[in-house]
Amino acid sequence: MPRYAYVNGTFARHNEANVHIEDRGYQFADGIYEVVALINGKMADERGHLDRLERSLNELSIAMPVPRSTLSLLMRELVRKNRLRNANIYIQITRGATKRDFKFPGADVPPSLVMTTWPFKFHGNAAVTNGAKAISTPDIRWKRPDIKSVALLPQVLAKQHAIEKGAYEAWMVDTDGHVTEGSSSNAWIVKGGKIITREATQSILRGVTRTAITKICTELQMTVEERPFTLKEAYEADEAFNTSAVALVVPIIELDGHKVGTGQPGPVAKRLYEEYRAYADGQRGDELAWTA
Ligand code: PMP
Repeated sequence: MPRYAYVNGTFARHNEANVHIEDRGYQFADGIYEVVALINGKMADERGHLDRLERSLNELSIAMPVPRSTLSLLMRELVRKNRLRNANIYIQITRGATKRDFKFPGADVPPSLVMTTWPFKFHGNAAVTNGAKAISTPDIRWKRPDIKSVALLPQVLAKQHAIEKGAYEAWMVDTDGHVTEGSSSNAWIVKGGKIITREATQSILRGVTRTAITKICTELQMTVEERPFTLKEAYEADEAFNTSAVALVVPIIELDGHKVGTGQPGPVAKRLYEEYRAYADGQRGDELAWTA
C-alpha cells in the first residue's frame, strides 16, 4: 500500500513528496511543527496541539496556511489515506519558499504546510514497560524554547549524545544546574509523594502531554509542584519520568548511571501512563485546552 504525505495542497506519495530548495524552513529553520499521537484511531489532545501550533505561529508572525478546521480535516484525510489507527502525525509550517533573504518575505509568499505520518505501537512500547535510561547534558538552546521551532540542532546533538552513551533520552541542564527538560520531552521527578516538574515559562516547551498530566494529577489529588529541580534531586528521587506526545509517559530508571528509586518503573509513572491512555481514549471527559 502506498504511503502518503501532504505537501502544500496535495496528497503525494511519501517517497515523491518534496518542498522547494529555497523553502525558509530548509534555509533558516524558519518554521514550527507539532506532533500529534493517533491512538486507536483517535487523535490525542488534538485541541491542545492545534492551540500550541497557532501560538508558535503567532510568536513568529507566520500566517496559518489554512483555516484550523481545514487543517483538522487534512490530518484526518492523511490518516485515512495511510489507513492508520496508531501513529504519530507530524505537521510542519514554514514561512514559505522565496529568494534567500533574512528579512520576512512579502504577503504574496504563502507559508508552506507539510504533514507526514508514521505508524507507532503505543501498546507494549518497551521504553514504557521496562523504563529507560537518561543522561544529562548542558542546555545550549536559544532563549525561546517555548516556541516549537524546527531549529532543533541542540536537541539533535543532545539525543545523539544520549544514544552514544547507551541512553534513550538526554535531560538538559541550565547554567544554574537545574534540569530544563528532555531533548524531546518534559522531565519529571517524584519525591516524598510530590510530583515535581519545571514551571512552563519561556525556558521550556509547555508540553501538551505535560498539561494533561498536570490536570489528571490534580483530579486524582496527586500533588504537583511546578519548580526547577537540580540533577542531584533527580538522582535521589523516588521516580523520574518523561512525557511527550510521541511516547506518552516513559519511566526513567537510570540517570547519569545513578539508579533512580528502585531502578524499575515506579508506581506513579505507571499510573499516569494508564490514566493518560484513558484520557486519550476519551474516558476522562473532554480534552483540555493547552493554555487552560
Ligand atoms: N519538550 C521538548 C523539547 C519537546 O521537543 C517535546 C516534544 N515535542 C516536549 C517537551 C513534549 O511536548 P508534547 O507533550 O507536547 O509532545
